[in-house]
Amino acid sequence: MATSRTFSLRARYLFPIDRPPIRDAWLTVSKGRIAAVGDAPVGERRDLGNVAILPGLINAHTHLEFSELEEPLGRPGMPFTDWIREVVRWRREMIRQYDGIDWRSQAIRHGVEESVRGGATMLGEIATLPWEESGSRYQGLHGVSFMELLGLARERHAELLSAANNYVEFSQSSGCSSKPGLSPHAPYTVSPELIESIATLSARTHVPVAIHLAETREELELLTSASGPFRELLDDLNAWQADVIPLGSTPLDYMKLLAKADRSLIIHGNYLSDEEMVFAGQQRDRMSIIYCPRTHAYFAHDRYPLREMLDRGINVALGTDARASNPNLNVLSEIRFAAKQHQDVSPESILRLATINAAVALGIQESHGTLTPGMQADFIVVPVAPDTTTDPNELLLGSTDMVQQVFRRGEQLFPVKAEA
Ligand SMILES: [Zn+2]
Repeated sequence: MATSRTFSLRARYLFPIDRPPIRDAWLTVSKGRIAAVGDAPVGERRDLGNVAILPGLINAHTHLEFSELEEPLGRPGMPFTDWIREVVRWRREMIRQYDGIDWRSQAIRHGVEESVRGGATMLGEIATLPWEESGSRYQGLHGVSFMELLGLARERHAELLSAANNYVEFSQSSGCSSKPGLSPHAPYTVSPELIESIATLSARTHVPVAIHLAETREELELLTSASGPFRELLDDLNAWQADVIPLGSTPLDYMKLLAKADRSLIIHGNYLSDEEMVFAGQQRDRMSIIYCPRTHAYFAHDRYPLREMLDRGINVALGTDARASNPNLNVLSEIRFAAKQHQDVSPESILRLATINAAVALGIQESHGTLTPGMQADFIVVPVAPDTTTDPNELLLGSTDMVQQVFRRGEQLFPVKAEA
């Protein structure tokens, strides 16, 4: 079905997301956009039978350079700082082993393919050096490529800010398939001053900013008292800077800096205080929190306060994070896992995390996240049991059936069609 054509697909259930599921309905696509939902079919028609059609899923947080890993680094439940040591060791080994070879491109390509098979049509990707290749490397990735910025030392500030400026300028003018974003990595790897400068740059250029924040108790300990396992890690890596983080700092201090950005994403936020959650809720149009359920489980953190976050009006979105802490990049599996973990959250709300909420997080809600006429025709097809008595949301989330078909702009991405 070519993108310029008009066609209609009938499903047992359509999940528009901006309204309840519709039974035995048609989705009409024209010129790569959604033309109608539920109405009488137009153009070429096909009844897909016992399936659900829902918007293309959006994975708001991943690091695709880890996509060749067959299993997560380290072991489940290990201390987070020990896992970071594993990541540092792995990255050094990759660079040593594949000296001069662009190993990242292949991992990213495979990661994009795996993401699509799992139903994700848009990604929030944390992109690392080298930047010269980023244009070609991220061709094929749709969503936002957040340039990762690392360097706690004040002397690095000017250099990192200039690289960020160049990246935004290059990406906005190069016609990349993904949009640019910026990711000052975390409070333990970049200075508050750099985060503030990046937030100001974001406000000027309208690119989103993503930061890992309040991920562990050990991070909070570092911010408060410059001590604990993170301090030891940074000392060991020769990266500790004595006067960069003011003693007694909290995630809220960082959130106030991020509030100056055009749009910000707090990755994890596992240990935010109630005051911090309220602050994020007040900024819901421009500040989101990204929950990575299976990564959260991998590190055996305290229960994730999803119900509390949603109650405080926070825009929570879902991410898989990387294969370094998750067995795969399948967003449908991530959604189902989250539904099982949070029986106190409605299945409708769980579905929103990887659709409309994730679209808001990445700033693409004008064209993505719901099946609404006028939106880009990104959607997925998932088999559902021929059961008319169970709530369709529960039917979809309770099933183990995998994504059957994926469309972007009305064109089938998966399964890949043989050339005519
Ligand atoms: Zn991450």
